[in-house]
Amino acid sequence: MENSIASAIAKLKEELPSNVKLVAVSKFHPAEAVMEAYSAGQRVFGESRPQELAAKAAVLPADISWHFIGHLQTNKLKLVLPVAAMVESVDSLHLLEAVDRWGRENDRIISVLLEMHIASETTKQGFSSDEILEVASRASCFPNVRICGLMGMATFTDDETVIRKDFAKLVTLRDEIRSEMDKFPGLPDDFGILSFGMTHDYRIAVEMGADIVRIGTLIFGERNY
Ligand SMILES: *Cc1c(COP(=O)(O)O)cnc(C)c1O
Repeated sequence: MENSIASAIAKLKEELPSNVKLVAVSKFHPAEAVMEAYSAGQRVFGESRPQELAAKAAVLPADISWHFIGHLQTNKLKLVLPVAAMVESVDSLHLLEAVDRWGRENDRIISVLLEMHIASETTKQGFSSDEILEVASRASCFPNVRICGLMGMATFTDDETVIRKDFAKLVTLRDEIRSEMDKFPGLPDDFGILSFGMTHDYRIAVEMGADIVRIGTLIFGERNY
C-alpha cells in the first residue's frame, strides 16, 4: 500500500489525454493524503463539504486549485468562495444568485459549472436541460459569475449503455448552446467545459469527450463516511 496514492496519480497521468483535467477528489480523506498526491505533482483537488474544504485549504499549499463539487448551501458560501478556484456544482438559480452577490461584494468573478441532472436517480441534484437553457440565457444578469460549462453524475450502474446515455445529455446540451451562442449573450466565448466521469466510469467519460474527470476512490481508496 505504500505510495499507492502517488502510483495511482502517476498511472492516471499516463492514461488520461493531456487535455483532460484530473480533479483528485479528496473528500473524507485527511490533509496528509492530499499532501501525498500533491508531492506526486497533483494540483487540482475536489471537495464536497464546505467546512472540510476550508480546513484543508488553510493548512495545505496555496498553489492547490480547489474545485467544490458538493451541494452548496448559501449560508456556507463564505467558507467555500474565498478558496475555491471553481464551483462545479451550481444546482439552483438561488445558489447562482447568491454566488453572484458574494462575488460583487468581494470584488471577485467566480468560475462555475452548472450541474445538470442526468442520472435516473431522483436523489441526485441538478438542473434539467430546459432549466439550464433558461439560466444560460440570463447569464448576463450574473456579471460576477463566469459560467464555464456543465457538470453531471451518471446513474450509478454497471450498465455502460445507461452511463453513455446519461453523459450524452451533457454533450448534446453543451453542443446545442455552443451552436447558438448569440442566444446566450452573458456566457463567455469559450463556454463549454464538461465535467463528467468518476472512478467507475471515467474511461467512458474520456472517450465521450469530458474535459474534467473527478476521481476519488481510485486515488485515495474507499472513503470512511
Ligand atoms: C465523490 C464524488 C466524486 C468522486 O467519486 P469516486 O467514485 O470516488 O471517484 C466525483 N464527483 C462528485 C460530484 C462526487 O461527489
